[in-house]
Amino acid sequence: MVQTKKDIAVVGSGLVGSLLAIYLRRIGHKVTVFDRRPDIRLVSFSGRSINLAMSNRGWKTLREVGIEEQIKEIAIPLYRRALHVKDKPMYYQEYGKDGEAIWSISRGVLNRKMIDLAEAEGVVFRFNEKVWDVDLPGARLFTGESEKSEWTAYNFDLIFGCDGAFSRIRHKMQRRSRFDYSQDFIDVGYKELTIPPTEKGTHKLDKNSFHIWPRGNFMFIAMPNLDGSFTCTLFLPFEGEVSFENIQTKNQAQQFFETHFPSVIDEIENLTEDFFKNPTSALVTMKCYPWTYWNKVALVGDAAHAVVPFFGQGMNAGFEDIYVLNELMHKHGDDWEAIFKNYQESRKPNADAIAELSYRNFIEMSSKTADPRFLLQKQIEKWFAGKHPELWIPAYSRVTFSDQPYAEALAIGDMQESIMKAVMQLPDIENRWDSEEVESFILQQLSEVKEHTIIS
Ligand SMILES: Cc1cc2nc3c(=O)[nH]c(=O)nc-3n(C[C@H](O)[C@H](O)[C@H](O)COP(=O)(O)OP(=O)(O)OC[C@H]3O[C@@H](n4cnc5c(N)ncnc54)[C@H](O)[C@@H]3O)c2cc1C
Repeated sequence: MVQTKKDIAVVGSGLVGSLLAIYLRRIGHKVTVFDRRPDIRLVSFSGRSINLAMSNRGWKTLREVGIEEQIKEIAIPLYRRALHVKDKPMYYQEYGKDGEAIWSISRGVLNRKMIDLAEAEGVVFRFNEKVWDVDLPGARLFTGESEKSEWTAYNFDLIFGCDGAFSRIRHKMQRRSRFDYSQDFIDVGYKELTIPPTEKGTHKLDKNSFHIWPRGNFMFIAMPNLDGSFTCTLFLPFEGEVSFENIQTKNQAQQFFETHFPSVIDEIENLTEDFFKNPTSALVTMKCYPWTYWNKVALVGDAAHAVVPFFGQGMNAGFEDIYVLNELMHKHGDDWEAIFKNYQESRKPNADAIAELSYRNFIEMSSKTADPRFLLQKQIEKWFAGKHPELWIPAYSRVTFSDQPYAEALAIGDMQESIMKAVMQLPDIENRWDSEEVESFILQQLSEVKEHTIIS
């Protein structure tokens, strides 16, 4: 269905705001994007900012507007995890047998590219313009120097709040009665460090792997950049015996890495300087509802649902919001009531599911990847999935390499987990995990589940 041209504001020129702006322009709307920050294309950075893993849902949304290939040029495929478990030789876990990959991409580089692409479509960007207030029923925005300064008012037909986890647009919604809102910080924070390229400009570690050094309740990860460097992230509790709180001096930082990450310490650039220069940041899960008001204002991306980054899905989920919105705009034309209603009703359960999955993956990646029984369970799952790929797709693959709704992936993952828990209770499972009896046991369990549910 064709839509009548609207004058639309997008608040936030991050990844979600700039991609949504492209979609809205393609439909023919007039689009103005506001951001409180300066134009990221004019701010100097090394290209080594936060790295994101782009997976199926992200690519699908980029493909729909024909920019997938351009973005792939600035991304690196990661076909496997490289696990650096303490006191063991490093080993690989392939993501999938068919060369499936997640893609490492610098958030800053991607954001610059997306703004370029949006501008080429005719989107107008207003940088250094912070939105302080919004009149929800009137679709009016108020911007200005500071909360106390004189504000400029702008009238629009529709407003999309893509202003991130601490959204100002959502802040206004929160003052309304019956608006649900929760935010939960985990007790783990993160800090970024860098492994520079070799003198020849190549990568010091395998560049097609997602490197993980799991250490109980903390871990270190590394993702490659195009310039040969790796962006590394240390996830560590804020407080406790091994924690940020207990690393106060350069000596302590050095000691910490020597004790826990001896295999990588020599590769990290300016370790002790960067450790104290780079910020320690917090991680939050944010849930809220409703996401839309008066068929005039809608939240998209992190503004509607922020998740901890352990499934690599925050941006992918935000892009999927856009994909769904676009489908609804084409289906319902000018019926914005139907578009907004269907958008929030279909996306909310999926946003809650990816929040849960991301939190669980935090527990899994940081503590269980070093637990032999957990590794055995994963091994059995992989073995069975290899034998019966039509019957068993692991939750990670459903989330990362398919576009099955997150809520379904979570439900099926729970069902599979309960079967695996039963398998792990079988006597002498350590020695007969790849036997015919175990295979028949899983098949039997699956057929019993099928009889009681409609899960396919
Ligand atoms: C450590 C870490 C690792 C991650 N890894 C992954 C990953 O591997 N894969 C993945 O898919 N996701 C990942 N994510 C999540 C991903 O970064 C976010 O989901 C994504 O960036 C959200 O995009 P957004 O556009 O919704 O919000 P943001 O990127 O937060 O953008 C919001 C924009 O709004 C602007 N803004 C805010 N307030 C105002 C205002 N009042 N007025 C005007 N402008 C305003 C901001 O300046 C900003 O430009 C990770 C996140 C973290 C923290």
